[in-house]
Amino acid sequence: MTQITNDPKLTAKVLNTGGVVGLPTETVYGLAARVDNAVAISRVYAIKERPVHHPLIVHAYDIGQCCDWGFMSDAAQTLANTYWPGPLTLLVKRTNRISDQITGGRDTVALRVPNHPIALEVLQGLSVPVVAPSANKFGRVSPTTAHHVLTDLADEVDLILDGGACVIGLESTILDCTTREVQVLRPGFLAAADITLATGIAITPPSGPSRAAGMLEHHYAPLCRVELFETRDQAFEALSLLKLKGTTGEILDYGTDLAAYAHDIYDDLRQCDIKKIKVALCVLPPPIGIGVAIRDRLGKAASSEG
Ligand code: AMP
Ligand code: MG
Repeated sequence: MTQITNDPKLTAKVLNTGGVVGLPTETVYGLAARVDNAVAISRVYAIKERPVHHPLIVHAYDIGQCCDWGFMSDAAQTLANTYWPGPLTLLVKRTNRISDQITGGRDTVALRVPNHPIALEVLQGLSVPVVAPSANKFGRVSPTTAHHVLTDLADEVDLILDGGACVIGLESTILDCTTREVQVLRPGFLAAADITLATGIAITPPSGPSRAAGMLEHHYAPLCRVELFETRDQAFEALSLLKLKGTTGEILDYGTDLAAYAHDIYDDLRQCDIKKIKVALCVLPPPIGIGVAIRDRLGKAASSEG
């Protein structure tokens, strides 16, 4: 059985000896391996069952460390200064030091400094950053507790660092800083409008070919069917119809508390699967702030496969 620990030094040691570990961050739990260990990174792809052309986010200790792996443009530097450590991933041009295995052979690399005290302690104990995609099977619901990682990946990882429940609970905002205007590839806790207000950097919707798993149609999905509703009344009406057909359903509604929505939604979707509920009926948050990201994830969870 995979060991769960709360010791960052032990975690750094396992990574330094080529291990793959479940690592807490403020967004979701990551599946971490050192960026310079090709064998460990191959295991990350294999454990996640992730297609190898889907590149991995590099998690570093600070901005200085990031500069070895990617060229920080002026916009990237400003965004990093403003939001790191924090739930913001920046896509920048890569340096030669980063391997094709991490970037999927692209000329860009995705970088982030996570805002989690124990994760930063681990990263400080390494001489290089780690890759850390979400610690779940590809396409499924991201883990927001150490127990979720254990449930999903059981004996496949060498160690899980328990840093408590993720404070945010939703994946980072991804911004592409390599385009003429900065583009948002995946919405997250940090809303584009707020970033522009704070930094003066204009942010546009994505254009061109898909560059992030966040741009896939179907992702973040539990086993149960996910149905979406704008109002609680609509959800209750649909639940009544399901009951008439003998189908089990559960309403997920968080009112106006968007932070609680982000924090709880993945665990609640997992609970639906544990209880073998057939349909999760989600009452959507308003499309403001982190509500945009929640609607994005639930939209993908609800879309049919393929
Ligand atoms: P995950 O770590 O599973 O939350 O997914 C990380 C996201 O970052 C994926 O959507 C990747 O496609 C995206 N990403 C990471 N590196 C790159 C890159 N070099 N170019 C484009 N997208 C990237
Ligand atoms: Mg993921």
